[in-house]
Amino acid sequence: MFTFHSIQDYHKALGDGTVSCEEAVLHYLKEIDSHAHLNAYLRIYGEEALETARSLDKKRSNGQAPGKLHGVVVGLKDVLSYKDHPLTASSHILKDFVAIYHATVVEKLIREEAILIGHLNCDEFAMGSTNENSAYGKVLNARDESRVPGGSSGGSAVAVQAGLCMVSLGSDTGGSVRQPADFCGILGLKPTYGKVSRYGLIAYASSFDQVGVFGLTVPDVAKVLEVIAGEDDYDSTVLPANTNNGEWSVGKEDLTGKYRIAYFKEALEHPGLDPEIRNTLQQYIQRLRADGHTVEGIDFELLDYIVPAYYVLTTAEASSNLARFDGVKYGYRTPTAGQDLDLTEFYKRTRSEGFGKEVKRRILLGTFVLSAGYYDAYFTKAQQVRKLLVDRTNLIFNDFDIILLPTSPTTAFKIGEKMDDPIAMYLADIYTVYANLTGIPGISIPLFTHTNGMPFGVQAMTNRFKELSLLRFSHLMMQQYKSYENPTLCD
Ligand code: GLN
Repeated sequence: MFTFHSIQDYHKALGDGTVSCEEAVLHYLKEIDSHAHLNAYLRIYGEEALETARSLDKKRSNGQAPGKLHGVVVGLKDVLSYKDHPLTASSHILKDFVAIYHATVVEKLIREEAILIGHLNCDEFAMGSTNENSAYGKVLNARDESRVPGGSSGGSAVAVQAGLCMVSLGSDTGGSVRQPADFCGILGLKPTYGKVSRYGLIAYASSFDQVGVFGLTVPDVAKVLEVIAGEDDYDSTVLPANTNNGEWSVGKEDLTGKYRIAYFKEALEHPGLDPEIRNTLQQYIQRLRADGHTVEGIDFELLDYIVPAYYVLTTAEASSNLARFDGVKYGYRTPTAGQDLDLTEFYKRTRSEGFGKEVKRRILLGTFVLSAGYYDAYFTKAQQVRKLLVDRTNLIFNDFDIILLPTSPTTAFKIGEKMDDPIAMYLADIYTVYANLTGIPGISIPLFTHTNGMPFGVQAMTNRFKELSLLRFSHLMMQQYKSYENPTLCD
């Protein structure tokens, strides 16, 4: 029987001839089938994946040098363009849309011989924190099926959590990789803004969006990052200084480093934070200190402004980005279009029928904050908050290597728990949106288990483009802190 531990082990087994890519794909297709009720995959590309696997097996037997992700079975969030395959962003408005080009990240995965097994469910246009906003049904958390997997990349998280692919890609605009990773007990990395090309990623809020990686081990996440990162002629926001990125050499990880770590006092003292998560993190901080790291609580008086600033700026960008879905050139068109409608009525009906409730809410909010009478009061103010956050963050990284925060204030919600209260849902993003507002990289590291049986992690962040240091720190945590004898830690 096929079992997956890490890309490195899998590559070794392929080299030894004890397993083949075809066997791996057959294994995942069987698992996907027997876990279909989780609703993680929207579409499975089984035949194609098998074909690719067979050709990779042949290539290996001919002695050709393997690519960096040779035979690695990857799932894609349904916002990443895979040429000649449907692409819906989990929205009714793109129901029959077929992608006409590869996203740069997809192109790079294929070039390094990954096997793309399917597209994964998510919140519509990546807007949400539970995956309940998908037009194609909710996703269940495999650890407890009465709970959500988090969002918006819920399908991508569950696919890795439940063993339905080796690694997956998601997108993170305000936490959509880190928070579902936290809820599902796996690793989720959001790279620096400008590290990975957004070409072929369906835009939600372009100055926040970044493609991220889900995996079970830090070396796996590092390997995928190494492949997908880097300059791209099609995305001028990818910074050139970023090629020497996560070059991670397995076996040479530094487990001896001592880190200067900051956490925000206001974050740990926040009344919305689950008391058990607070206690566990406090004990964890003590342990880090005992092990020789410097850990300091610092004042961060801006904490209460970050969720409002995020929701003003991202909805503004979304209202502009989503204007393209008008039923004219592609996507859903109202069936009443033939009935002599004027253009405004045609747009209105197409968009009202095609978009879900949360997407409409954000388009309306975004249009409002950009409107002539309110622009300065909301949009300009939020931009000013963003600038303050960036300045403050630069100062913090003069003195520290790492910022630690919880990933989410609670463990995974019960299905339906927050659906009637969008504000409560938005407020739960308090710890993740900071990294997107400032552009820094962040990772959720799955170290703990709550007495309610659900996993939770700690979120680590470094300065821009310091992914290598972030991954080293994460690896150290995974190696040495998962076994911490606190009863609430994973064993
Ligand atoms: N939960 C956040 C939101 O709803 C994050 C979304 C994301 O990162 N795509 O906006």
